[in-house]
Amino acid sequence: MPSVLPPAVARRQWQIMTAIGVVVTAIYTAWSTSPLASVSLVVLGVLTVVACFLGPRRWGAEPPAAWLMMAVAALLFLIGLLIRPTVTDLAMPLPLLADVASFSGYVLLGAFLFVLLRARRSLERHAVLDGLIVCVAAGLASTLLLAVPAAAIAGRPALLSIIQGTYPLFDVVLALLVINLAFTTKTWPVSMIGLLVMMVGLFVGDTAYAIVGVSGHIYASPLLNVPYVPAFAAIGVAALHPSVVEMSRAGRLPVQAWSWQRLAVLVPALILPFGLLLATGSGAATHRLLIAVSGALMVVLLLFRAISAVQAQVAAQLHSEHQATHDPLTSLPNRQSMSTLIERLVTTVDSHGPERVWVYMLDLDGFKWVNDSWGHDTGDQLVIEVGRRLRAQAPETVPVARVGGDEFLLAFVGDKAGALRLVDDIRGCFARPLPVRDTEVVISASIGIAHAGGDPVRSAVTAEALMRDADTAMYRAKSEGPGRSTIFDTSMHEQVRERIELEVALRQALAGNQLHVAYQPIVRLETGMPVGAEALVRWEHPERGSIPPMLFIPIAEDSGLISEIGTFVRTEALRQLGVWRSQGVVSESFYLSVNVSPRQLSEPDLPLVISGELFRFGVPAQCVALEMTESVMVDGSSVTARVLHELRQLGAKLLVDDFGTGFSALGYLRQFPVTGVKIDRSFVTGLGKNDQDDEIVRAVVAMSHALGLSVIAEGVETPLQREALYHVGVVNGQGWLWGKAVPAQEFAERWHLTAALPEVPLPVTTITNSGRHRRD
Ligand code: C2E
Ligand code: MG
Ligand code: MG
Repeated sequence: MPSVLPPAVARRQWQIMTAIGVVVTAIYTAWSTSPLASVSLVVLGVLTVVACFLGPRRWGAEPPAAWLMMAVAALLFLIGLLIRPTVTDLAMPLPLLADVASFSGYVLLGAFLFVLLRARRSLERHAVLDGLIVCVAAGLASTLLLAVPAAAIAGRPALLSIIQGTYPLFDVVLALLVINLAFTTKTWPVSMIGLLVMMVGLFVGDTAYAIVGVSGHIYASPLLNVPYVPAFAAIGVAALHPSVVEMSRAGRLPVQAWSWQRLAVLVPALILPFGLLLATGSGAATHRLLIAVSGALMVVLLLFRAISAVQAQVAAQLHSEHQATHDPLTSLPNRQSMSTLIERLVTTVDSHGPERVWVYMLDLDGFKWVNDSWGHDTGDQLVIEVGRRLRAQAPETVPVARVGGDEFLLAFVGDKAGALRLVDDIRGCFARPLPVRDTEVVISASIGIAHAGGDPVRSAVTAEALMRDADTAMYRAKSEGPGRSTIFDTSMHEQVRERIELEVALRQALAGNQLHVAYQPIVRLETGMPVGAEALVRWEHPERGSIPPMLFIPIAEDSGLISEIGTFVRTEALRQLGVWRSQGVVSESFYLSVNVSPRQLSEPDLPLVISGELFRFGVPAQCVALEMTESVMVDGSSVTARVLHELRQLGAKLLVDDFGTGFSALGYLRQFPVTGVKIDRSFVTGLGKNDQDDEIVRAVVAMSHALGLSVIAEGVETPLQREALYHVGVVNGQGWLWGKAVPAQEFAERWHLTAALPEVPLPVTTITNSGRHRRD
């Protein structure tokens, strides 16, 4: 059994089969009349049948039924061959037994080839037409030269004669299938060659029989069987070779209209009727009629062939033109053709009139998140649906193109009012949720708009510039939040350049030690004593001096540098805390608060890395707080959720930074293991002066206490703010009132446990309301 054979042996079986085939062919040719010849033929035949059963199954050839048919066909051929010499001379209907076996074999072989060809997608119109032309010619020749004479032989049962005359016609049909295979195959693996050798063997053998048959014999000599011997071996080899799996794989050549190989087969076929006409010129009228009909049929087929070739050519050309100018996913025009379209629009606009060419660059917000959480298939579907809606929503005169993963481009000619109306139309596309797969996605788009007056001379330049400016404006819109739109103005160019310069400089800063960490105290409002500190990154540029984080952190986030920066700040801060703890600079419960960006929280190994650092610097997890923005929880993937839970399990505090500026949805505060919130500076600023701010802070505190969360107020600058905060129940605060962020050395000097209390933070005495909820 091949399945229990070691792979090396299994791989060599086809070579063994080849060797057996050569030996048996030699024996059969040399001693065709001896019993040894018959015995070796039986051995070879049986081996072949077994090979057809087991080989394809072993290598996993598809479809399994095809090779089963081939195995049975081989068995039937073998039976036919073996019994023919014996049954030929017996009384009717016994001689037909051999034919029943061979006939069934042919039918199965034909079915086998057909199934294979269909699986290969080789039954291609051109190849079939070519095959049919050759078939008609071969059928004509074999009918006139072999079948008719054989069938006309008297002195034996008519049925027998007719059957003998039919064999060559079987071969013609098989030839059609084999020609199909040969014309459409790209590679010639061993199994394919085996199959062709088998077909040639069958063909030669059948032709030999047919030629003998013309003289009235059904069976003359065992020598007639010689061509079948290698045919058996060849099909065995085809079945055993690993390349048997390739036989049914679609790997066909793109059919060329004409090729030399095809002409070499087709030209003789087309000439044949004329040759036959010459040869049998004096023959019966039915012969000439047959020749005429076949010739006409061939001409018709040839015509079909020519028409079909032209059609295919035209279709291919249209297809490639469409592909060159359209996006394959949405079938919308692509960037290149949109550029040409815009160029054309620019030439049509009168530069002195009120009309302008408006170009809209649209980018989906959070598309990456859809792709990451639901997979690229869903992302593709979303893009298709957005493309469909945009096309349906925009007026017909407005071209819509897809120019990138989730980017679309629209162009419009008209005045400003019309242009802004189109923005509303575009927005309308995103008002309803987009059905994708078995879910619905709510998504928005950032839109950048650029416009220009007509300039027929410089239309190409203008078109490119418009698309580039719309892109710049789109990035600006995106930076302002999701779902925004912005009209380009020239100052944006300057900002883009500045941004690129900063990014380059930031990369150098990371490598060149220009970054360091500063610490700002977080104090207990009541006592003014520090309970912790926030670690904040500082960048000292050699020429430009100190660059504020508000300027470079967004750039770092966009460029991915934030991970490296975040890691640097965190490691340095934890190291520093370890030192302070060992030197007794800070109390046991003193904690450091570190900012973590969304990108860092999407790194699955972050908890592991942090726990390693805590161990390394001897810092307990309770002494670390991680600050994140609300967007982390609103936009976060399942990875982020897992990371947050693991960090919390570790024991670290998790704080929501700048609370109140973002979505301020309560749901996520319960869903994620957050331990506290930091009320954004913007609410603290108005405290004591603005009633609304007072109310907001009061509400945040009440809500936080209800959820068991700690509260820290950010940006406390005045004693008034501090008192108001204390009054509404805020326990801890951070701000310039107690001190700005300073380098580690300075922080230690100022806030050393044993150092005298600084002057500013006196206990708040004016507040009588002492029964408040407190945490930390
Ligand atoms: P943040 O996390 O909300 O940090 C507080 C910011 O408010 C700091 O600005 C701090 O210097 C400032 N601040 C503190 N007290 C006062 C005050 O009384 N009045 C005023 N007007 N401002 C005060 P900074 O250092 O410029 O940092 C800005 C933002 O940059 C931070 O906001 C944070 O989002 C980000 N950032 C800073 N360092 C890092 C870092 O290492 N990693 C990450 N991912 N982001 C960082
Ligand atoms: Mg912060
Ligand atoms: Mg903050």
